[in-house]
Amino acid sequence: MQQLEALTRQARALAADEPATTPHEAEVARQMQICNACRYCEGFCAVFPAMKGRLEFGKADIHYLANLCHNCGACLHACQYAPPHEFAVNVPQAMAQVRGQTYADYAWPPALGALYKRNGLTLALALAAGLALFLVLAILRNGTLLHPPLAGTFTRSFRTT
Ligand code: SF4
Ligand code: SF4
Repeated sequence: MQQLEALTRQARALAADEPATTPHEAEVARQMQICNACRYCEGFCAVFPAMKGRLEFGKADIHYLANLCHNCGACLHACQYAPPHEFAVNVPQAMAQVRGQTYADYAWPPALGALYKRNGLTLALALAAGLALFLVLAILRNGTLLHPPLAGTFTRSFRTT
């Protein structure tokens, strides 16, 4: 009995330490509770067997399940509780939102995660850096970005014919 109480205390302490779930994570937890009662999609992918037997979904469970999903959409097309049903179950969408968040949260080094969140800026900077590198390499190879006019070549080939 004492052991059970100690375990309960430990579980409460762990739960208190866990950071609060985001709205996207809460949505995955809500949908997984519905899926766990339904289980129609059990054979579709690794998500449904992994979710089996869980009555509650903690942050780590939700991140794990979100990264098992490969967004095939099969469960959405099969789901009798998909919108416009009031349960509004859309597992691929809910998983994708959490998966995107985990890409940013678990990136290493962490600065890359921040860049991932601002992917528009990252893409623009990467494009600018790529173009600058291309121009520098062209200068190093040819000594200049300019080259003789093409007209001379055209005139020569015109005269030979
Ligand atoms: S996605 Fe829909 S049909 Fe599939 S297990 Fe979940 S609730 Fe059931
Ligand atoms: S969308 Fe995700 S959860 Fe649904 S069947 Fe495909 S892999 Fe599984």
